[in-house]
Amino acid sequence: MYNQKVLDAFAHPQNVGEIENPDGEGTVGNATCGDIMRITLRIENDVITDAKFQTFGCAAAIATSSTATQMVIGMTVDEALKLTNARVVEELEGLPPQKIHCSVLAEEAIKKAIEDYRAKKEGKTVDKSKVDYV
Ligand SMILES: [Zn+2]
Repeated sequence: MYNQKVLDAFAHPQNVGEIENPDGEGTVGNATCGDIMRITLRIENDVITDAKFQTFGCAAAIATSSTATQMVIGMTVDEALKLTNARVVEELEGLPPQKIHCSVLAEEAIKKAIEDYRAKKEGKTVDKSKVDYV
């Protein structure tokens, strides 16, 4: 059901782990599949210099997290906010239709991590214990 590119990304995911004292972090989940994804970002002068993820989920969730983190490294936060799940799926040369919802997690986790970064810059505190279900 998965193409070779997705299987490769699942078998050899990049950027697995957690950045210590990240500049932004976001955790999202989806109720349909039960996937939970946490993304941590290192951001310097509004440019994402590192991104790592921890995903408890299906092959589609892991493959899209890996690909999305690879894509956002080097982007400005504004560019990263425009990264859509459709673009990540395109990079993976497609996902089975019933697995598209899993790719939404990567987009949402990155958005949430950037919101966290911006909130911190403004001196606001963010409750990170909360998982948003998308
Ligand atoms: Zn899933």
